[in-house]
Amino acid sequence: MKANRDVKNISESCDPLLVERQPIAFDQIKAEQVEPAVHLLLEQMKARLNDLSAPHVPRTYRDVLAVLDQMTEPLDFAMAVTRHLEAVTTYPELRAAYNAVQGPVSQFYTSIALNEGLWEAIKAVDQTANKDALAPVERRFLEKTVSDFRRAGADLDAAGKKKLEALNVALTQVTTKFAQNVLDATNAWELIVTDEAKLAGLPESALVAARESAKAKGKEGWRLTLQAPSYIASMTYLDDRALRQEIWEATNRRATEGERDNRKLILEILRLRREKANLLGYRDFADLVLEERMAKSGADAQRFLEDLHEKTAAHYERENASLAELGRELGYQTIEPWDVSYLAEKQRRALYDFDEEELRPYFELSRVEAGMFDIFSRILGIRVIEEPGVPVWDPAVKYYRVEDPGSGILLGHFYTDWFPRENKRGGAWMDSLVTGDPDSGKPHVGLICGNLTPPTESTPSLLNHREVETIFHEFGHLVHHVLSRVPVRSLAGTSVPWDFVELPSQIMENWTMERDALNLFARHYQTGEPIPEQLFQKMKRARTFRAANLQMRQLGFGIVDLKLHREFDPAAGGDVMAYAREILAEFTPAPLPKDYGMLASFTHLFASPVAYGAGYYSYKWAEVLDADAFTRFRREGIFNAETGGEYRRHILERGDSEDPARLYRNFMGRDPDASALLERLGLRTEAAA
Ligand SMILES: [Zn+2]
Repeated sequence: MKANRDVKNISESCDPLLVERQPIAFDQIKAEQVEPAVHLLLEQMKARLNDLSAPHVPRTYRDVLAVLDQMTEPLDFAMAVTRHLEAVTTYPELRAAYNAVQGPVSQFYTSIALNEGLWEAIKAVDQTANKDALAPVERRFLEKTVSDFRRAGADLDAAGKKKLEALNVALTQVTTKFAQNVLDATNAWELIVTDEAKLAGLPESALVAARESAKAKGKEGWRLTLQAPSYIASMTYLDDRALRQEIWEATNRRATEGERDNRKLILEILRLRREKANLLGYRDFADLVLEERMAKSGADAQRFLEDLHEKTAAHYERENASLAELGRELGYQTIEPWDVSYLAEKQRRALYDFDEEELRPYFELSRVEAGMFDIFSRILGIRVIEEPGVPVWDPAVKYYRVEDPGSGILLGHFYTDWFPRENKRGGAWMDSLVTGDPDSGKPHVGLICGNLTPPTESTPSLLNHREVETIFHEFGHLVHHVLSRVPVRSLAGTSVPWDFVELPSQIMENWTMERDALNLFARHYQTGEPIPEQLFQKMKRARTFRAANLQMRQLGFGIVDLKLHREFDPAAGGDVMAYAREILAEFTPAPLPKDYGMLASFTHLFASPVAYGAGYYSYKWAEVLDADAFTRFRREGIFNAETGGEYRRHILERGDSEDPARLYRNFMGRDPDASALLERLGLRTEAAA
């Protein structure tokens, strides 16, 4: 009896993590509740998994798949809330508790697909169920589950499963080491400059940062590092060419020497990934990870990039020729890798007399936000209403409800948290806390977070254009979650393939470049005036500056990623660095040195077991989709509620309930077309010679 009493005590004291309520009791959640709650939930989940995999369970969709779909919901909720609090209001005890539960929790999730009884039951349903009697979304869930389980190793014999487990462990270890090497090598380098004259060209903000960085290390002078803000400022502004070269070469050597040499780790990661793919019956790692994505196969993704490459090449040549010309005027006989950003900045200033900062007074956060809610309420047929007085984790956080005025249904709630704090992670993101089913009375819950320019004593929060895009972007992910009407949890909201998930977010950014939309929310915070026409035109023109170079850079990374995972043979032990260098040379405006080392710090590809491995193409893929889908709004009206209604019904409400390629076709009436992206980047037409 004692055990029971203990369990009861735990349940009461951990209430907010164990019992899902709306609004969530953020004011009552404490670090010490996390471990007991999660361990109790893990016990319950294991018991549920046991029950589900028992031989007497009827082999029907409802008894197996529908139960599986709901099974982990309480654990998902507790982990989502904990993960979220750790991200926005962390403290040592909370971080420790979160770290302590992560291992057992991920072990449990991994164990689901390797549970033999459950796999037998799922296969039995797959083979015997009358699939015509299932709703299409149920049939899709059944098919996807079978395929997910297979890719997680469910069909392997005991020896195969053991091998797979060993490969996964090895991949985690090697990729973790790769990431640490990059971090350590980056931090290990610094350059202390004591003669300010050597820093000529650097803007005031970068000088101040370099001075503070030196002071923090107890040194005199200015400290330059390889961390992004310092490195980018050095490459863009430093007049001293030799100094730029020194810094570029330090970045290029990163993680290629001594204890922190990532070159052999790359070979090892590629070999482990290839072996894993082969073990599971795939030709290569690209085919393994892309099977369930929109691109379907490595070959298709590569064709997609190569096609864009072809269409960008002529513009790229022209941009490079004009940069070379400017270089010659400034006395550069050749353009080296450490000259490109520097000369490009000179060119940008000559072509566009445009200072991003001029826009800030027109982008006051509360006005931007209210305007955005207003615009998308009209387009998508929703209503967004602030609800004050609910428990939040910081006084700056706001809470909203989203209704469907047509049906009166409450679709969901969301939180916004926009300003930086010391206890909050960097960057911007959307997260879901509850995946609901509004048609059965359970609303969704999500949140959008950022680290935007905070208010000062004399001004409200005034944003730059990139920050405005960020708010629209995250709100796009949010409506994808909150507007979901998919009854199968696992296929709801943003649980869509990786190369489709950025369509709803990126498409929103288009509205921030439309005059009529800007007029609604971009007003001078003191005078109420809209953005002057001349400033707006400058902002538009600056958007296409060196667009071909930027695109080529992304295409080069995407192609080298796919070739490494498809064509390169890691078992043959060739020189992977030289292989990558040869490919990337075609996408880089300056000649690359023999020891070109970028790959050794390419964390997107190698810092975790899957990461963006064989998936870097997704960035461009999503851009093609968003630019193309926006053409319907362009044509039919950027505030057109009918177009918005179709977009909502075909894309936003559907999650992964149908093949994304089909969802896209349902909205557009055809397959994606890259011309809209090329046009947006100014790469569409062949300019006259
Ligand atoms: Zn995104």
